[in-house]
Amino acid sequence: MSERVYLGLGSNLAEPRRQLQDALDALRAIPLTHLAGVSPFYISDPLGPADQPRYVNAVAALDTELEPLALLDALQAIELEQGRVRKDERWGPRTLDLDILLFGERLIDEPRLRVPHYHMHARAFVLYPLADLAPRLRLPDGRRLSELLAECPFSGLEKLS
Ligand code: ATP
Ligand code: MG
Ligand code: MG
Repeated sequence: MSERVYLGLGSNLAEPRRQLQDALDALRAIPLTHLAGVSPFYISDPLGPADQPRYVNAVAALDTELEPLALLDALQAIELEQGRVRKDERWGPRTLDLDILLFGERLIDEPRLRVPHYHMHARAFVLYPLADLAPRLRLPDGRRLSELLAECPFSGLEKLS
């Protein structure tokens, strides 16, 4: 049985829009997985160190029969394929970040994977593109996406056509 997954995509190095397009092609090639939708792209101010370029962000919807850790393996392989270098600095610049925001209704709390993503409720660059794809979405705890948006200003964000 397939489950609906929402992914957050982000890049601020090496032609970020190209990175996101390449990532979408790579997502289409994951086994047992269908890329069901992609939000518009947004430009956002960086979290963490401010001396880095602005990000391009989007959200993608997948329908997958993979288990969560198998999907995470596939996503981390795509990050590495696109030149992601993991540094000690938190939230530093990167060619590609692929985060699992939601995985069906599941609550996952494992060392490698926490779902829902622990900080999605506070990130405009996640919530606004997610709402473009699924405006009536509810989180597993019952909160409506529309309520989260009402508490998360559209600041530092710019929607690309
Ligand atoms: P943030 O998670 O705050 O957005 P980040 O995306 O920059 O920061 P990464 O360096 O991409 O963090 O990932 C660090 C670790 O987070 C990964 O090795 C992965 O195992 C773990 N992780 C935990 N929960 C998730 C999730 N929901 N999606 C992706 N990775 C996750
Ligand atoms: Mg991230
Ligand atoms: Mg990440």
